[in-house]
Amino acid sequence: AKLAKFQPEGTVFSEFTGMCMKYNAVNLGQGFPTIGVPQFIRDFASQTMLQDTLVQQYARSEGNPKLVNALAQFYKDSLKREVDPLTEILTTVGATEAIFSAIQAFISPGDAVILISPHYDSYPASVHLAGGRSLFVNIKPPADRDAETSDDWKVDFEEIERLCAQEQGRVKMILLNNPNNPVGKVWTLAELQRVADIATKYDLVVLADEVYETLVYDDAPNPMIKFATLPGMWERTLTVGSVGKTMGVTGWKIGWIVAPPEMIRTVWLVHQWVPFAIVNPLQEATALSFEHAIKTGFFEEQRKQYQELRDHLMNILTESKLSPCKPHGGYFIMSDVSHLPDPLSVPELSSSPLYADETRRDYRMCRWLVAEVGVGGIPPSPFYDSEDVKGNEIAGRYLRFAFCKSREMLDAAAQRLAALK
Ligand code: PMP
Ligand code: GLN
Repeated sequence: AKLAKFQPEGTVFSEFTGMCMKYNAVNLGQGFPTIGVPQFIRDFASQTMLQDTLVQQYARSEGNPKLVNALAQFYKDSLKREVDPLTEILTTVGATEAIFSAIQAFISPGDAVILISPHYDSYPASVHLAGGRSLFVNIKPPADRDAETSDDWKVDFEEIERLCAQEQGRVKMILLNNPNNPVGKVWTLAELQRVADIATKYDLVVLADEVYETLVYDDAPNPMIKFATLPGMWERTLTVGSVGKTMGVTGWKIGWIVAPPEMIRTVWLVHQWVPFAIVNPLQEATALSFEHAIKTGFFEEQRKQYQELRDHLMNILTESKLSPCKPHGGYFIMSDVSHLPDPLSVPELSSSPLYADETRRDYRMCRWLVAEVGVGGIPPSPFYDSEDVKGNEIAGRYLRFAFCKSREMLDAAAQRLAALK
């Protein structure tokens, strides 16, 4: 099978959500909110669903006109420019399709793409399907102490440069996830400028996966900086967003790309053969929701709500001695679990099929936490290349927990995790 190397048993998210259901565990694994969807968003969805109009038929292939207008409005401030809704935006089946179609559009067999690990797991599979090669560079926690915040995770820019030089023009793209999943790193202006300098020097397309753009907390090293606002970067950047994250409705699977007209057209040429167009009534509901959210200050309110949940889960994990690394953005916390015993070293567990044949320490720890403690997380090794020994050593120390969950769920997890104190 063409994709046998990429989680052939099903993605880590399916595995651990399934396992949490089987063991009745509190699922802090897969990133989807359980904090309730605001009434206005559900009202707009039901209104658009009830209309007997053309909104129930195929959408404009590039994106529902109301939605692209609302997105142009939304991005005016953060992108610091007037975005042309009809030529500079494409709507997609979630950010996942945006990333997939963009990579198909810009990467030909033999081309290379720089991925910064830990990276979202769909990136290397999408590069592989385009016939491209992924080159991995890690952001690393400090070697001599625990990472306290996501800002302690740093990337070696010289390594990126070295790879670009070595490939002699075959590197065509770099993927930058800001804020990052799973660490929650919010990139600083200085770091973004280094990426911009490399992109200019080696003529790279930058795919800026900024799906968590509205979830940057007030202790971040700087506010969210959209990569496309750096001097000269609009011309080479594909900015990716998702309603799943901005509005907390991951089931809608609506995403988008914002970029200059020629770049949008290049991706659209792929998109028209993948879904052709995406769900029309929910695009319209998203448009109405954005208009309302911009007027009412919803994004700021939502950001505060998530920051409180982050602080709450940070306290819970700290009390359980799970050494959490405070994220400045997104909705995940990486916790260092390296001090907990590996199930393989516990005689009554070591022969269980949950652990016995599993080579990845983080998977063993995560299965143990679900089965024995009743709390679900996500092991981070799928966010690294399977052949990256150093990356997998880092992954082996951590588990990722999501805080986009109701207080009740976080408190239920706290009760169970108390057993670890
Ligand atoms: N990129 C990142 C960094 C993500 O975390 C996610 C969602 N987990 C996606 C892309 C995909 O977003 P969507 O659900 O809109 O396809
Ligand atoms: N992006 C979400 C996460 O990282 C889940 C995505 C998925 O389920 N494929 O948890």
